[in-house]
Amino acid sequence: MDAAAAISELVIANRVVAHLKLVDSFGHVSVRNPENPQRYFMSRSRAPSLVTKDDILEFDLDSNPIDARGLRPYAERFIHGCLYCARPDVMAVCHNHAHGLLPMAVTKTAMRPAIHSAAVIGQQVPVWDIRDQFGDTNMLVTSSEMGNSLARAVGAGKAALMRGHGSVIAAKSVQDVVFTTFYLQLNAEVLIKAMSMGGEITYLSPGETERSGEVHSQPFSRGRAWEEWCSQAGVACMDTK
Ligand code: MN
Repeated sequence: MDAAAAISELVIANRVVAHLKLVDSFGHVSVRNPENPQRYFMSRSRAPSLVTKDDILEFDLDSNPIDARGLRPYAERFIHGCLYCARPDVMAVCHNHAHGLLPMAVTKTAMRPAIHSAAVIGQQVPVWDIRDQFGDTNMLVTSSEMGNSLARAVGAGKAALMRGHGSVIAAKSVQDVVFTTFYLQLNAEVLIKAMSMGGEITYLSPGETERSGEVHSQPFSRGRAWEEWCSQAGVACMDTK
């Protein structure tokens, strides 16, 4: 995939995450530039449902825009730059305030996969608390120092919940980041309902998480969801298999 194709897919992803309500007016998706791993693409500060190709800006890994063209970047772009810097394997990042997972983000308990399709979130998703290192803030990740702290919480994993705020997902592709975000939220919703029933929760075992995660990472599985979500969001689906 070249840079132009990555930008096209990023625009589609913005529409899809908006359609799936994984983001509201806030939240963002980015993709690493496949032609230059030291840079990434992301929209200017705009609601994801409205993002077009003309809104996409390129950033270095310190999250400085290469050419801002007078446009205002997202204040929390450091989340993305710091993850790309810390994790050479990460090709796409989503930061969101997905409503369904927010209850899990106000606890200190790391989330674990409980349903098979959520195995893609990895063995566990830690809760990063901005206050632990930075005290009272406006809760936004607005510097590389903060972004690096969050990236350390993600570690070698797929995601982290952000206390009182939302989540971040680091994935191998744009389709992977959307898929993982969707099932991170679904896993949270299922857990919250199950907890309200008062019974003991049976999580996937580490072996189940590994095997099921592998199945759900296959292109046929990923592509099946992507094709449907693009259709529902009213955007032409790019075949990027
Ligand atoms: Mn945010």
